Amino acid sequence: MAEGRVYNFSAGPSAMPLEVLEEVQREMVNYKGCGMSVMEMSHRSKEFMAIAAEAEKNLRDIFGVPSDYKVLMMQGGATLQFSSIPLNMLGSKTKADYLVTGQWGEKAHKECNKYGTGQLACNTKGTKFTTIPQKSEWKLDPEAAYVHYCANETVNGVEFSYTPDVDTVPLVADMSSNFCSKPIEVSKHAFIYAGIQKNLGPAGMSVGFLRPDFADGSKELKICPTYCSFKTTGDNGSMYNTPACFTMYVMGEYLKYTKKLGGLAYWAEQSDKKSGLLYGAIDGSNGFYNCPVEKTARSRMNVPFTINGGDEALEKKFLDEAKKHKLYTLAGHRSVGGCRASLYNGLPLEGVAKLTDFMKSFMDENRK
Ligand code: PMP
Repeated sequence: MAEGRVYNFSAGPSAMPLEVLEEVQREMVNYKGCGMSVMEMSHRSKEFMAIAAEAEKNLRDIFGVPSDYKVLMMQGGATLQFSSIPLNMLGSKTKADYLVTGQWGEKAHKECNKYGTGQLACNTKGTKFTTIPQKSEWKLDPEAAYVHYCANETVNGVEFSYTPDVDTVPLVADMSSNFCSKPIEVSKHAFIYAGIQKNLGPAGMSVGFLRPDFADGSKELKICPTYCSFKTTGDNGSMYNTPACFTMYVMGEYLKYTKKLGGLAYWAEQSDKKSGLLYGAIDGSNGFYNCPVEKTARSRMNVPFTINGGDEALEKKFLDEAKKHKLYTLAGHRSVGGCRASLYNGLPLEGVAKLTDFMKSFMDENRK
């Protein structure tokens, strides 16, 4: 680890691979001898157009995006997509189904109701978002314009380990917090979107993979702002207006690094190892640590846990002492409390080993 850096378990923006940061640093002031930083160049310049084209090509290669799908690179984060989805996908149908398994899905659903009717195909709020119900329990409407799900709920630590089967209704996925952590079935989706500040770069943009029947504007509502239009973004190669140039460039470096390591299979293996180690420590603690999420729905990315049945004073002590071991940003989301470790690509396996070692010694010292 580089001098002075810590193990950063932040839920996003989050740890980046050191190699990517160092490459960006090398190119920061004078990008490939062109005399300026990427931050300073026109998005229409030859150099930047090449950066954008290479980023798109690498997204297609790494994720196996079908050639007729559009790759969209958009500003505004995933939250803007919560609005863009109904605005571009409802068409004349007015209703859409939402599988709500956590707080982000809940927000997406709420946003849909501004433009149409968001129907709850399932809602696990009653379990405090700790489960994913079987398909037999979902109330799917065959007439819905689409079915939306959140592949990984960042706050609650709930992850789909499979692509939901929704028959012929177009499937839409928020993959913000498990994007680039495993191979995905793009062609089973009409739209996949992800803010990139967890597993693929800095904050400032989201990536979308869009099926062609939603890229022609035929289902775009009249009130859809130009800025949110999938058709406008797609027709203009994600450069209708000034894109988040520097963020896009850093994502491009992250993608090149991903390719070098062996693609999504590499990140998947790392994620399995890291989360396996941490859940092992939690489950082997005889209840001192507890993860409230049902085992089959547990996230490989975000691991929430409580200490000693939710003892807040002890949790605070844990967070304070963890920092002395360079283990940072382990507090749970402000809405749920407790602790949470986010294990994104930028966090190395050795960081999780350090965390589990610390957890064991903290338990030995503090178990009553
Ligand atoms: N969806 C998920 C799953 C998220 O984790 C987040 C951010 N933490 C969002 C949506 C919202 O993303 P943004 O803050 O980039 O708008």
